Formats: sequence, structure tokens, C-alpha cells
Amino acid sequence: MSEQSTHTDPASDQHTEQHRGHDGGDLAARYAEVMIPVFGTPQRVLVRGEGAYVWDDQGRRYLDLLGGIAVNALGHAHPAFVAALGKQAETLGHVSNFFASAPQVELAETLLDLALAPAGSGVFFANSGTEANEAAFKLARRTGRPRIIALENSFHGRTMGALALTSKEAYRAPFAPLPGGVEFLPAGDEEALAAALAPGDVAAVFAEPIQGEAGVLPLSPKYLQALRHLTRETGTLLILDEVQSGIARAGQWFAHQAVPGVVPDAMTLAKGLGGGFPIGALVVFGPEVRALLTAGQHGTTFGGNPLGAAVSLAVLGTIREEGLDRHALEMGEHLVREVAALHDPRIAGVRGAGLLRGIILTAPIAAQVAAAALDAGFIVNAPNPTTIRLAPPLIVTAEQLSTFVAALPGLLDQIPEGS
Ligand code: PLP
Repeated sequence: MSEQSTHTDPASDQHTEQHRGHDGGDLAARYAEVMIPVFGTPQRVLVRGEGAYVWDDQGRRYLDLLGGIAVNALGHAHPAFVAALGKQAETLGHVSNFFASAPQVELAETLLDLALAPAGSGVFFANSGTEANEAAFKLARRTGRPRIIALENSFHGRTMGALALTSKEAYRAPFAPLPGGVEFLPAGDEEALAAALAPGDVAAVFAEPIQGEAGVLPLSPKYLQALRHLTRETGTLLILDEVQSGIARAGQWFAHQAVPGVVPDAMTLAKGLGGGFPIGALVVFGPEVRALLTAGQHGTTFGGNPLGAAVSLAVLGTIREEGLDRHALEMGEHLVREVAALHDPRIAGVRGAGLLRGIILTAPIAAQVAAAALDAGFIVNAPNPTTIRLAPPLIVTAEQLSTFVAALPGLLDQIPEGS
């Protein structure tokens, strides 16, 4: 990957010098000194980005195939993102929710439009995915029903409510007791679902159309349809967490739109919604669901602030103008084709949709492969031991994806057998 190195790029070297001068020391060591260590050791210190690339403080360039974990929809420093942020900052940055602003209202209208939501639907803006799910949890409680169902392998965030909906024991155990009433069902098991919903006392079922953190595990269209059918029959809310799968990442504006007949009662968004600016949203479908939360029952200082809303409008507008939803589909198919063409026995296939993909390995070496990829100039990650996750900017090109696929066998070669 010598062409990925930018040691000969004067602009990059200049930037590195500036960065070193400013920091006056080893940033990684300073990080270790002052940060609460929940994230472990950072893999690199990054100093700038452009399009699908980022650069570290040594001037090395990386193809960002993770996009800040499915966030940087337009890549890095996209002109539309930069312009919207600057213009809004010069105009009106923050006002609190005692006041309305045009970007906030326009963003809500745009989301409802993209979601094909019926008249009387509504939006609550938050600042992250976990907060969007927190709002959805409260919405579910307002039904008055005591039980909530989530799925095994779910990930909905790290705040206490979202954590209560998250199945992974290692995340949950240190923080018990979590808000109660949540039960987990195996994803895909229609019989278990029907039995759990039968008593009619379940407030909501939470589900990710594609379970990203668990390793890019899509729910089958049939199971999603069963979810919709059974929740509707029993008066249970279907709440889809589209934090990772939404905003054109899976090739549709929202992943559930690929499945005929599946319209949720609520969905949560974040990540790509701001393309790198922190913003989340709870979108509810129809007046009855909207009426569950009334004045004073929820709130936020920053949610829907003009800066975030203006940037989000620019992100959504660019996706729409440039047809990045269709592009995501095409690029995803390109990736699948290219990986299949490797005929590498160490690769079992590719999961997911659009540009939310998991390359499945036959051995539990994904973490080592991700580390080797980073050394070779590619950012990917390993959400589980056998999966390499790709969630690149939606602007990624076929050529860029191909460079990674071409490098993959060499990366696999680097991992000692029996690892
Ligand atoms: N829901 C899903 C499906 C996610 O993938 C994530 C983050 O990875 C979250 C919720 C939490 O979002 P945030 O990290 O913005 O709180």
C-alpha cells in the first residue's frame, strides 16, 4: 500500500508539523493521562480528513471504510457539510427549546417526508442514538403496558434505558439494576414472538433491521413482516432502531423500506443523520403514537438545535441530490461481487445491505485482520471475532472499495495459522 502513504505529500507534511507544534508532545500519552479509559487505547491520532480519507499525525493516509462507525455519510469535510455549519453558526447557533427555528422544523418535515409517515406523525430531536432510544423507551412506557421486548444480539446504546434494551451482558452487568420489564427474544423466532405478544401486555418490540454492532446481522424480511403483523394484531408498538441502518446506509432511506408492508410505529435515528454532527431523532408514525408523549414529559437542551438541524438538512439534501441511496446499493453489490471473485476459502461471504456490510471469515481472526488493515492504510473494524465490518462514507467509489478487496488476501496471509 505504498501509494497510500503521504510522506511525499507536502500539504500533509505541513499539516503534521502544525499539529506537532500545537500539541508539543505525544498526544496518545496525554490521552492516556487525562481520559477516562472506557474506550481502551486509541489506534491512531487523526488530524484531518477529506472525502473517504483521513490522515494521522505521522502524515499517513487511510481509506476510511468505517466512516466513524456509519456516521460520515458524506465523508470528511464535504463542502455542503462545511458550508451549512458555517452559515448556520454565523446566523443562529443555539436557542434552547423555549424557541423554534426554521432548520429544526424543516428537518422534521423532511424526515417525515422521507419516512413516508402519515399525517399527524411527529419528531423529537436528541443528540445521539442512545438518547433517541431513551425517548423511544419513554414513549413505550406511556402505553401503560408493563413488558417490553428486545432481541438477542441487540445494541441500542449505553444510557440506562437504552442499555436495558441492549442484550450484551458485559455491557449490562456493571450497571445493574437497569430499568425493568425488558425481555429478550431470539431474532428470527416467530413462534417465540407470537407467544410473548399473545397476552396483550407488551408495550413495544424494539428491533434493529440490521444488527450492526452484533456483526451486521440482518433480520430476514419474513421475520420483519411477522414482527409488524403480530405487533399490529396485539396493539403493540413496533419500534425500529435505524440508528446504524438508516439514512441511506443500507440502500434505502431507512432499511425497513426494503421490506414490503413494514412501516414501524416509531423509529430512532442518529449517526448518518448529522453526517458527523451529533444529532439523533425519534420519529413516530401517526397521531395516536405521537399523542403518547405530552408537554413536559421529555426534554433536552441541545436536541434540534439550529446548528445540528442545518447540517442534517445539508446531509439529507446532498444524499437526495446525488442519489447516494442508490449509489450505496450499487457499491454494496460491487463489494459483494468483488469479494466473491476472490474465491478465498478464508472468506465465507458478505452479510448486510448497501454500505453496511460484514465480511465473514471462517476463522476468529477479525480483530487481527482489522489491525493489519490499519497498518496497510484501511480503517475497518471487527464487531465480532469472525466479522470485518465496513460502513464507509456513502460517497465511496468502486475503485476505493476494490483497493481494499484486492488487499484482503494479503492481510489474511499476515495472520498466523491457528490464531
Ligand atoms: N442503536 C444502534 C443500532 C447503534 O448501532 C448505536 C451505536 O452504535 C446506538 C443505538 C447508540 O448510538 P450512540 O452511540 O449515538 O449513542
